[in-house]
Amino acid sequence: MVEEISIFAMAMDPVHVGTGGYSIGMVDNTIVRDPITNVPKIPGSTLAGTWRYYVTLELQSHFKEEYKADLKKREEHQDDISKLFNNPKDWMKNFNGNRFAKIKCAGQDEEPQKTLEESKNTDTGHCGHCIVCKGFGFSKKNMRWQGMIFFSDLQILFFPVFTIKGTKWITTASKLKETGIAPEIEDKQSEDKIKTETGDEKYLNLGWLYLEVEGPHNIDKNKFKIPKFGKFNLKPEDVIVVPESLFAHIVNSNLEVRTSVAIDPITGAAKEGALFTSEAIPRGTILHGTIRIFNKKAFEGKKNDESNSETLPETKYLIEALKESRHFYETLGIGGMTTRGFGRLIINSNEFEGGESSGNRK
Ligand SMILES: [Zn+2]
Repeated sequence: MVEEISIFAMAMDPVHVGTGGYSIGMVDNTIVRDPITNVPKIPGSTLAGTWRYYVTLELQSHFKEEYKADLKKREEHQDDISKLFNNPKDWMKNFNGNRFAKIKCAGQDEEPQKTLEESKNTDTGHCGHCIVCKGFGFSKKNMRWQGMIFFSDLQILFFPVFTIKGTKWITTASKLKETGIAPEIEDKQSEDKIKTETGDEKYLNLGWLYLEVEGPHNIDKNKFKIPKFGKFNLKPEDVIVVPESLFAHIVNSNLEVRTSVAIDPITGAAKEGALFTSEAIPRGTILHGTIRIFNKKAFEGKKNDESNSETLPETKYLIEALKESRHFYETLGIGGMTTRGFGRLIINSNEFEGGESSGNRK
């Protein structure tokens, strides 16, 4: 039993998920690309790592002060853990393993050599019992648990370009089909022509490219269901459908490239001659991915120590945890150089009922 959630992310800043010191041409810090399409993406592993951290932060922020650091004291309420929290949400109070949760449940486990039992009451390492550890996985001496939540890469779905008619978002027919946004769309298209809402502009510029308009893209307004990003709402009239062969090319030639000065960590001054350039996915880009959540039924019969089905969180609580922690992407962001104004994202999904993002939540 697998629940699939389709998620959308809009970059509020340029987003830099780096390859780690690999440079192409004039750019020093390149970003991760899909090896087949050559289009930049945000890897699922990066998404999983940050979201794990954000669920942990959200959970910790609800612990009452006296229980935050004192794991031993939490035993007072081991039968009613709702008393450990201020305004606990269902996903916090209805999963008993959360009484072992600590900030160290995020990030690398410092103590994978400990047993699951030994990890219950220590301040270091993953606890192995809370919704974060069960949901995202952990590895202990006597038990390796893959987790229940799996993230696909976030792929660019709509990419902003400047045109004489204002900012438009390019995509391709196959992307609209595969994501179910416009399943009915015609995917026959000339190699070098584009389609717009009206289809009656003879030519249109996409950045510096000047292309012939072939006709209307015929996206069905009623089926076009992209969640809102704060106040921003993408409409079919903002969309331009380009041929597959051009998509990667247009994206790669319209990426953000920023020049920064390296700061000497000892003197705090700019290092002489230490200019470097970094690529980034530009602000306004909309990405798409899938989260798969394995229902605890899928693990029934696996009597692995304490991690059998009785002690796994329900799917609805995992979804709630993701939904209620995603606001951290709007302040702390994802990827590198977040202290230099990079990385903030709004994440939303039609399946996070209500559909609306926390928007400008502080
Ligand atoms: Zn934990």
